Amino acid sequence: MNESDSEFYARLLRAYFDSANDAIFVLCNELKFLSCNRRMESWLGLPESELTRHNCRRPITDLVGNTDTAKVFEQNARKVFEGESQCFECLLEPVDAAQRWVEINMTRVDVDAGEMVIAVARDTTERREQMARIHYQSTHDVLTGLPNRASLQEFLDGCDRAGGPGEQPLAMLLIDVVHFRDVNEALGHQLADEVLKTVADGLRKVARQFHHARVYRLESDRFVVLCRATAARYWPGVTEAIQHGFAAPIEQSGMQLTLGSNIGVSLYPDHVVRAGDLVQAAEAALHAVKQQATSSVRMYYRGRDASGKERLALLNDLRKAIAGASIDVELQPIVPVRDQGPVRLEALARWQHPERGRIPPDRFIALAETSGQILALTWRVIERALRDATPLIREGRIASLSINLSPYCLLDAGFPTRFAALMAQHGVAPDAVMLEITESVAMSERMQQHTVRSLRELGVDLSIDDFGTGHSSLSKLRQLPVAELKIDRSFVTGMLASDNDEAIVRATIQLAHSLGLEVVAEGIEDDAVLARLGELGCDYAQGRFLCDPLPVGELLGWLEKRQTEQDIG
Ligand code: C2E
Ligand code: MG
Ligand code: MG
Repeated sequence: MNESDSEFYARLLRAYFDSANDAIFVLCNELKFLSCNRRMESWLGLPESELTRHNCRRPITDLVGNTDTAKVFEQNARKVFEGESQCFECLLEPVDAAQRWVEINMTRVDVDAGEMVIAVARDTTERREQMARIHYQSTHDVLTGLPNRASLQEFLDGCDRAGGPGEQPLAMLLIDVVHFRDVNEALGHQLADEVLKTVADGLRKVARQFHHARVYRLESDRFVVLCRATAARYWPGVTEAIQHGFAAPIEQSGMQLTLGSNIGVSLYPDHVVRAGDLVQAAEAALHAVKQQATSSVRMYYRGRDASGKERLALLNDLRKAIAGASIDVELQPIVPVRDQGPVRLEALARWQHPERGRIPPDRFIALAETSGQILALTWRVIERALRDATPLIREGRIASLSINLSPYCLLDAGFPTRFAALMAQHGVAPDAVMLEITESVAMSERMQQHTVRSLRELGVDLSIDDFGTGHSSLSKLRQLPVAELKIDRSFVTGMLASDNDEAIVRATIQLAHSLGLEVVAEGIEDDAVLARLGELGCDYAQGRFLCDPLPVGELLGWLEKRQTEQDIG
């Protein structure tokens, strides 16, 4: 190769070098520049001639403009000189050029003059921005711009990784907008979306007021305000502010909308062992609010839905109990107050846990509801109750059988058909069966669904359980295909000691009769209350004073004794 050939190849190499999209540079063992291409010149805002000028060369760590990056460079360079090639990402913030993220590959090269590093760097700014955009989109709700469920869970899981139980108290307020479905139907999706944005803004305002509080949108009309630090201690104040916000009417298309809120509350570490379980606990609390609408805020409590390991263990046991048919049923008589007519029976689910003993139905039913096992459980109860009670119905020893339904049964469109098949299989007439639904469920929109209508069309009667604990609307009560109201035992048991309770009982009896419905009073624990109920014109009574819930064997004895007493009387 002659002189001009080598010059030619050197120029060609230089052209390759400079045309690369990546920055390429060579550093000495003091990390000073020996050479770099055009891309690197433009990234640093300095020409190669200056970077490599004799006696004026500065190490790259002085030029990156960011102390963290300088450190990362040094650490990686050390490893490279030890013979390990490195690849790392860092931020360049040179004084004379734009900042950018770069991914750098560095390798050691040994030449006669000593060791040097060859580095190839690629601009990753755009990729990072794209990733950040995707992350933002996957963690935020498009409509309101609020962080979403994934973002909330990410934060909670982060808390669990950062510290043990009790490190930082948290209060989760899970908010459900009451009547939102009506708004959606009345205004259409577009305007309903506007309403949701207004709700989100209102919640943001409350969160700002309390600091350490953050708003998330989980889905549709469900929001979370998560309180940390001081806000977590003052969560009742935050809750009040939220409710206050909802009380103010929202202007939408010339309409004044007043929405309400149901709020389920869960606290860490008081209620759950892991912060990550707060959502589930708050959902259980919200579910309880909606079922028993005596108040619009409810705290999670372990009894309703035990947490963590214990809950999982109990859930597993419950699943086995349902599958293995070890959910039992006891029957409690519902006795006519004013005549000697035949009694009716209510079936009540019972679970005798092999180690923990008897678990109260309120607890395992809530557990079954939140874990998706309620339908299986209900079918067990229905089968068992029909098996026990049908012979008594056929023999005319009891008038009918009442069964408690969970709201979830009403959501299952296949429920009426399967129920009809079971009644036919046992040979029991539909008019000998009464289905109990709680008042708050009866008043909710779900009652409009066709499941309820289909059940009524089968010929079974519907009864409103726990009457007085929900908010009934008279007009709705008139439209419902129900035959009976059951006054909740909280008004009945102590009615002689409370004028208020007695007034409620009296008014309920009058109301029911004026609508052509019969009335059952629950929770009769003494003869004085029974006598008073007779005076007030109550139709049926149920309670310990008359008879406890009993397994069918013992119930037969009770029925016989009653028959004998009536025969003598
Ligand atoms: P409920 O339907 O209102 O049932 C009446 C409750 O009153 C029963 O409680 C019964 O044992 C209790 N009780 C009866 N007499 C007296 C009395 O004189 N004093 C007092 N203090 N209580 C009395 P239990 O068996 O603990 O059931 C609680 C609730 O669990 C039931 O309330 C019902 O809502 C639910 N439940 C029970 N079995 C089922 C079921 O199979 N399915 C569904 N969905 N819920 C059920
Ligand atoms: Mg009941
Ligand atoms: Mg009841």
